[in-house]
Amino acid sequence: MTELLRVKNLRTGFRTENGLLPVIHGISFHVNQGEIVGVVGESGSGKSVTSLSIMRLFHDTPGEIMDGEVLYKGENLFDLTEKRMKQYRGNEISMIFQEPMTSLNPVLKIGKQMRETIELHLNMPKKEAHQYAIKTLKSVGIPRAEDLMDEYPHQLSGGMRQRVIIAMQISCNPSLLIADEPTTALDVTIQAQILNLMKEIQVKTNMGILFITHDLGVVAEICDRVIVMYAGKIVEEATVEELFAQPKHPYTKGLIESVPKIGMKSEKLYSIPGTVPNPTNMPKGCKFAPRCEHAMAICHKKEPALMTVNHHATRCWLYDEEMMKDKQGEGMTN
Ligand code: SF4
Ligand code: MG
Repeated sequence: MTELLRVKNLRTGFRTENGLLPVIHGISFHVNQGEIVGVVGESGSGKSVTSLSIMRLFHDTPGEIMDGEVLYKGENLFDLTEKRMKQYRGNEISMIFQEPMTSLNPVLKIGKQMRETIELHLNMPKKEAHQYAIKTLKSVGIPRAEDLMDEYPHQLSGGMRQRVIIAMQISCNPSLLIADEPTTALDVTIQAQILNLMKEIQVKTNMGILFITHDLGVVAEICDRVIVMYAGKIVEEATVEELFAQPKHPYTKGLIESVPKIGMKSEKLYSIPGTVPNPTNMPKGCKFAPRCEHAMAICHKKEPALMTVNHHATRCWLYDEEMMKDKQGEGMTN
């Protein structure tokens, strides 16, 4: 499999009155061509900051890259000038956000916005761009694409708007798509349609997708491999099948339990007690320890490393054989 993206030891911080506050603490992962990799975690776990770091899109936020590399097709994006980076955004790497309204200009008709994107990135004359826009809108399941070209974003439903964004983002044939909670604002039926659409597009184009979500149910629908993030670090990584069949980290287990199951009354839904720690006040050892029902003495003192066994990585003392052997030994002598 061809590797598209490799994030190496990424550290990102937020500028505060007291200096740079790290929020992403050295994460590493990759996305291959033709693969959908999910990044899952609660809000505040660092998922969106990770995607903004890859795209170097910190214009409206106090974010700043502190360390690491983002290799796209072998080239470190952090070494590029802003001008070069702009050419990568849209042409090579596209991004879809949760709220399609923020990516659409409310005062411009859909047709004009589609055309402008296509003219800019594909260097197409206006007339050709117009036809190409209609073709792309049809390819994302918009039946009356010609009429829609003449409408404003507010005239469309949320689901239609997200389809338009997807059409716009794939119109330039990117190799990598970063989707940050693209279906979170939509109702369940529309959500399923958009997920199916994304899967279809991925199969057709063989692009790689980095899919960011707080919802493991969505991950199960669409992803091949999953990265679980907690407090700015990766705590587990495995294929989707493996993660659901053999989850290891107590946080992942909690997330899986929080996924609604068919026939289950929503008021019975499990939620992990407590909240993601504040970056200004991180627990000393394992960042999940204050919420973990399995926490041991060592968990509050020392943070476990990310350990990989058979392509399944976990950051938890329970899977450190040496440590658990010692612990059992202690138990016997006591
Ligand atoms: Fe729980 Fe300890 Fe594992 Fe952290 S290291 S998840 S506190 S058992
Ligand atoms: Mg987010």
